[in-house]
Amino acid sequence: MSSSSSHRAPAPRPDPARRSWAEPFRIKVVEPVRLTTPEQRERAIREAGYNTFLLKSEDVYIDLLTDSGTSAMSDWQWAGMMLGDEAYAGSRNFYHLEEMMQKYYGYRYLVPTHQGRGAENILSRVLIKPGDVIPGNMYFTTTRLHQELAGGTFADVIIDEAHDPASLHPFKGNVDLNKLEDLMQRHGAARIPYVSIAGTVNMAGGQPISLENLRQVRALTARHGIKVILDATRLAENAYFIQQREPGYAARSIAEIVREMCAQSDGCTMSAKKDSLVNIGGFLAVNDWEVFEEARNLVVVYEGLHTYGGMAGRDMEAVARGIAESMQDDHMRARVGQVLYLGNRLLAWGIPIVQPIGGHGVFLDARALLPHLPQEQYPAQALAAALYLDSGVRAMERGAVSAGRNKETGEEYRPKLELVRLTIPRRVYTQAHMDVVAESVYLVHERREQVPGLRMVYEPKYLRFFQARFEAR
Ligand SMILES: *Cc1c(COP(=O)(O)O)cnc(C)c1O
Repeated sequence: MSSSSSHRAPAPRPDPARRSWAEPFRIKVVEPVRLTTPEQRERAIREAGYNTFLLKSEDVYIDLLTDSGTSAMSDWQWAGMMLGDEAYAGSRNFYHLEEMMQKYYGYRYLVPTHQGRGAENILSRVLIKPGDVIPGNMYFTTTRLHQELAGGTFADVIIDEAHDPASLHPFKGNVDLNKLEDLMQRHGAARIPYVSIAGTVNMAGGQPISLENLRQVRALTARHGIKVILDATRLAENAYFIQQREPGYAARSIAEIVREMCAQSDGCTMSAKKDSLVNIGGFLAVNDWEVFEEARNLVVVYEGLHTYGGMAGRDMEAVARGIAESMQDDHMRARVGQVLYLGNRLLAWGIPIVQPIGGHGVFLDARALLPHLPQEQYPAQALAAALYLDSGVRAMERGAVSAGRNKETGEEYRPKLELVRLTIPRRVYTQAHMDVVAESVYLVHERREQVPGLRMVYEPKYLRFFQARFEAR
């Protein structure tokens, strides 16, 4: 026996009752990543104004900025790219995409768009009149902006637990029906064109809504002729949590649950860059012919002809195939399983994260992690910068910087949550990468008193988190 192995603790024997599982794929193509020196990272983050969005990808080691458009496509999707029909009108890939949307989401009409916000723009212009109020289960940055640009006002009707990072509620994406009813009484149903329901709720930490709650929202609003529009960007991930947590759904497939959710709504906007495993693409889907007609008309103005909507034929083929792959139960189990793996490692070390662990990322609670920084010093932004400095891991702020300013008063929003999102791209990183990330968070947490606050020195007018610049205090 060698001396090094004699130092190791005896390995625990496998438990025959509990088999390990692995990703339902093997790796065919690899892309090298580069680890930088501390000096290089110091320079890079300063040049980026302490905003991880402004870092160059080449200076990043493990990129957890976003799960948007960062997925690894399958060989089947890549093969589909070669079958792109790049005709200006009537591309066969459009019809395949339409067929897959109808099969898996169940809506009647499809309007392709270049990505999710293209669909949000068109939907908002079709359904919202100036002065309208749009209730939703927490805001999303681009969704709310398009509602506001169309003259509407967003109203948050999510349950209070969603704003509490320590609440273990299994469905923190649920709508508080009392808040919704109050709003309907205050403004009148005629001022509420639709309720905007996201599954899972990105800004709450990837938290799901239950089917029971969605049904209740449907029942309450249908009586008053108010539509329900889903943000279906991560609906398949939401369906996984329903399967795992909601009584009566354990034996149902992801695909069945997604169909059932869509059946409680009138349409959806979709960023295919998330669930659907593509690098670019999106769509709007509706059941109502009049809404479809108007949307199909507007798509020509803002995106492209109604049979491509800003996507190449090959892009539409990749989305069509990605939709089918996203609904596979073994895919979803591995996808969310990897997120849970990272989150559980951090929990075991007592690092404050949003619980329950969400579907697309682990959200560090920056307020709890950096209690010495007041919200004016942007603790989540500061934490994301510190993490990059430690290991080259790139994360993203979801706190006061993302929340922006009130459009009337110009005052900065002060959201309850100051989060740093470690977003996991689909099928891209291994468990060893997750270990490196967990260790870096642990080490930053160890030295947390040394993390400096930030001062904003440049603020763009729209969606400021993308391009704002900061200095260390
Ligand atoms: C990403 C995202 C969008 C916007 O989609 P894009 O493709 O980035 O334009 C809308 N809603 C949610 C929940 C998202 O995560």
